[in-house]
Amino acid sequence: MRRGFVLVISGPSGAGKTSIARALVDSIAGLAFSVSATTRPPRPGEREGVDYLFCDRARFQEMIEHGELLEWASYSGNLYGTPRGPLEEILSQGRDIILDIETRGALNVRRALPESVLVFVVPPALVDLEQRIAARCAVSTDELSSRMAQARIELAAMRNYDYVVVNRSLDEAIGQIAAIITAERCRLTRQPALVSSWTEGGGAG
Ligand code: 5GP
Repeated sequence: MRRGFVLVISGPSGAGKTSIARALVDSIAGLAFSVSATTRPPRPGEREGVDYLFCDRARFQEMIEHGELLEWASYSGNLYGTPRGPLEEILSQGRDIILDIETRGALNVRRALPESVLVFVVPPALVDLEQRIAARCAVSTDELSSRMAQARIELAAMRNYDYVVVNRSLDEAIGQIAAIITAERCRLTRQPALVSSWTEGGGAG
C-alpha cells in the first residue's frame, strides 16, 4: 500500500480555499481534512472537532511543548496548528490529507515532509479579494485594510508553492485541484511497491 501524502492549500483570506478543501474531501475517496487546533473563538456555525479543535492558549502551549503539532503559526492575534497524531495515522492508512493553512505553516510542513504538495489559491483579481473579504464579515475599514495588508504578504509567498489555482468558479477550482490530486497519486515515487512488483518480478502478480 502506498503511503498517503499531504496536500496543503493556502491563499489569501477570501480566496475560497476552505470551501474548496471541504468540497474536495466530500467528493474524493481516500482524502481527509486535517482539523487544526486554534485559540480563535468559534464563529457562528463552526463545530468543535469538525472545523477546528478550539482551545485556550495554555492548552495550545502544552501541545507545542509536547511536540503534538506538526507546525503552528500566529495569525491575526490567534494561534493555529496542525495536530501531528491524526495526520500520521491518516498517512499510514494510505489516505491523503488536506491542510488548509497559512503560508508560514505551509513552509514548515514542506520542511518536515518534503514530499508534500503545496497549492496556492487566488481569486481572479485583487479587487475581487477586497470584495470577498468585505462580504464575508461586517469588518471595519481598519480591519479590512489590515486583512488586505495580510493578504498582500501571503500573496508574496506564492512563489514557494508547486501549483497555483485561480478561483474563477468554485467548480472549476475544485476540478483543477482534483486533477492535481489524481496526478500526484499516480506519481511513480509515491508507489515504490507497485514499481518494484513490475520491475523486479517481471510483471505484477
Ligand atoms: P480563520 O480564522 O479564517 O479560520 O483562519 C485564519 C488563517 O489561519 C487561514 O489562512 C487558515 O488557512 C489558517 N490556518 C488554519 N489552520 C491552520 C493551522 O493549523 N496552521 C496554520 N499555520 N495556519 C492555519
